[in-house]
Amino acid sequence: MKSLKDQLLQAGLRPTQSPKAANEREHIKKKQITEAVIHQEQRNFCEECQQVYPDVELYHHRNPTTEAEWICVKCADRLKIPDSFRQTAQSDTSIKKMFRREHGATRSSSEFKTPSHSAKPRGPINGNR
Ligand SMILES: [Zn+2]
Repeated sequence: MKSLKDQLLQAGLRPTQSPKAANEREHIKKKQITEAVIHQEQRNFCEECQQVYPDVELYHHRNPTTEAEWICVKCADRLKIPDSFRQTAQSDTSIKKMFRREHGATRSSSEFKTPSHSAKPRGPINGNR
């Protein structure tokens, strides 16, 4: 005599297995990767001059003389990339509202969405614990 399980399987019923669960796992994994990209550390390495500067920002420019996108102010001025191509205000210089372009007008920092936590000045270190 067959067991109930065998009878059910023969009738076309399958144990509910996990194509759905696998999809959900994949979905979560993708989301974590996206968040890691968004929350990546502040960039301060100029791809043009290969130096670290506190005023590196992302430029989506169409300047054919460079493929660099994360560029310091000095290089952006030298390459004559207008500030209108700037995508970020993430550098220390921007956060301190000291970001200023020599070439053309400087966009207002209010045009950029800056995470509020990074705009806060760091408080004095309290040695008393
Ligand atoms: Zn540079």
